[in-house]
Amino acid sequence: MTIRVLPPQLINQIAAGEVIDRPASIVKELLENCFDANATQLTIHIEQGGMRLIRICDNGVGIEKDDLPLALSRHATSKICNLDDLEHVTSMGFRGEALASISSVAKLTLTSRYGDSDESHGWSVCSDGAETFFDIQPAPHKKGTTVEVGDLFYNTPARRKFLKSEKTEFGHIETVVKRMALSRFTLGFSLFHAQKEVLNLKPALNLVQEEQRIAAILSEAFINNALHLDFEVSGLALRGWVSVPTFSRSQADMQFFYVNGRLVKDKSVSHAIKQAYSDVLYHGRHALFALYLTLDPSEVDVNAHPAKSEVRFRDSRAIHSFVLSCLQRTLANIRTTPTFATLPVSSLHAENAIPASFSPLQETVISTAEKSESAFQLTQKPLPLAINTPKQVYETLYSSNQPTTIPAQPTTPTDLPILGYAVAHLHGIYILAETSLGMVLVDTHAAHERITFERLKQQYAAGSVAMQPLLLPMKITVMPFEAELAENSIEFFAQLGFELDRISLDTLLLRAQPALLNKADGEQLVRDVLADLITHQDSYRIQREYNDVLAKMACYGAVRAHRVLTLDEMNALLRDLEITERSGQCNHGRPTWVALSTQELDKFFMRGQ
Ligand code: ADP
Ligand code: MG
Repeated sequence: MTIRVLPPQLINQIAAGEVIDRPASIVKELLENCFDANATQLTIHIEQGGMRLIRICDNGVGIEKDDLPLALSRHATSKICNLDDLEHVTSMGFRGEALASISSVAKLTLTSRYGDSDESHGWSVCSDGAETFFDIQPAPHKKGTTVEVGDLFYNTPARRKFLKSEKTEFGHIETVVKRMALSRFTLGFSLFHAQKEVLNLKPALNLVQEEQRIAAILSEAFINNALHLDFEVSGLALRGWVSVPTFSRSQADMQFFYVNGRLVKDKSVSHAIKQAYSDVLYHGRHALFALYLTLDPSEVDVNAHPAKSEVRFRDSRAIHSFVLSCLQRTLANIRTTPTFATLPVSSLHAENAIPASFSPLQETVISTAEKSESAFQLTQKPLPLAINTPKQVYETLYSSNQPTTIPAQPTTPTDLPILGYAVAHLHGIYILAETSLGMVLVDTHAAHERITFERLKQQYAAGSVAMQPLLLPMKITVMPFEAELAENSIEFFAQLGFELDRISLDTLLLRAQPALLNKADGEQLVRDVLADLITHQDSYRIQREYNDVLAKMACYGAVRAHRVLTLDEMNALLRDLEITERSGQCNHGRPTWVALSTQELDKFFMRGQ
């Protein structure tokens, strides 16, 4: 066996094998270079899915004439010069390999005009990755750089075979461009395939424009069902958009997480996000998000993956808990806010389009003047559905309940509570309430379940769930092994609000059950918790799953449909709902209530048109 030193072109081709697997990966590397050159406008031309041509033109700083050969040489970079730099990388690139690798497997031409140099033109250079001969030629160019990559894999036919159809390859390119466009709002992008413009994104310089870009890339429906967040704590910042839990997908394919402007996949971050959604999202559904984490570059190692798609956090636990708490706070805020945010009525699934008239975005743009005007109309002309005016309800409510402490009558209709006052219980399922902005419909069971769940959680977190002794202790016959399990888990049952004893081989005695669930069948609740214990095998594991157990208890204990509620009961529920965290949805991620504004009602009946 003879050991040989490999020629540079082959070394570059081997390196290309790591990062260049298809046209889209070239586009990614070239765009990263444009970002690092501080460009503000990028134009991308693609022919035949990028297999015949990729041309990317930027208006960044450019490359000096004498540096052109270096740019095409392996391990030559302007971005770092020592280990310390590597540990504080702020640029997208740092390996100095991309252009050399690409030039070894495709026909690469680099043309650039540096900064505001006096030269009236730019310079152009080609290379085949052998790094021996660079022919620099004058070439017309405005300030910035153009990289042209033709005939991909022309000299490596084996790799060419792995390419898919033009359409598929272009699809990958489009995805890469969109993902990268999401990471640099202030950059303009235009993308052409076969000379046809497929994407044109203007620079987004404020929140409204950023949301327009998000809508263009991730769909209008996403932004209409997204919560914007913006947190910063001691050097860590997280901002971006996450979907409300009612707007979810069956695939985790609309999840974008950027760390210092770089799209990455990170297990601990994904876990934190999943955990934040865990008690509001249906099992097997996935949230949508575009999130941007910024932190000190020395806190993150970007040199963890050849294609730079993974990073290593110095303190990944701190990142996990930061992301988790930001998301928990954002999701807990989905309550009855005065912005009157409606939840999508028709769809649980982001795959279905949301009718524009139900979008929260539309609601939030109603000016205050318009709001009070429509509220005024509402009291003047009660809705045909309303069987009681808010005033009547208000009077009934307070005169019957608290005759001694009648609060002042609302002077303007906007004094109504956010969820208004109940006017009817429809089909024993839905509460219809009149609000200052229009009307809401509340799913009684879902609302009750959510309220109960949040209270159970609070009590559980505070040590134990309040118990209510039973007038007659209840005997529950179970299998001996269940009785034993229950006996070993008395403590856990107590935390959940049950006072339970084992009185024989196969009999349990229930003396008290959770006060919040005093109307529910105690025996059934105990059996449910036992069933959960059996699946989780021991009470230690189930302690970690207590949220699930509490959710099940809440669901079981919540008001069943078809029991007609009195106005007082309904109003009490509405008030509870207003102060409950995450009241926008029940524990299964279904909405608890929906709103229709008077504007929307007017539209139905073509009023004022
Ligand atoms: P890296 O990005 O890791 O430095 P590359 O092979 O991608 O390595 O690029 C080599 C060098 O070429 C860069 O360090 C940079 O100086 C220069 N360069 C590449 N593309 C551009 C561009 N679009 N604008 C300005 N300079 C560029
Ligand atoms: Mg690069």
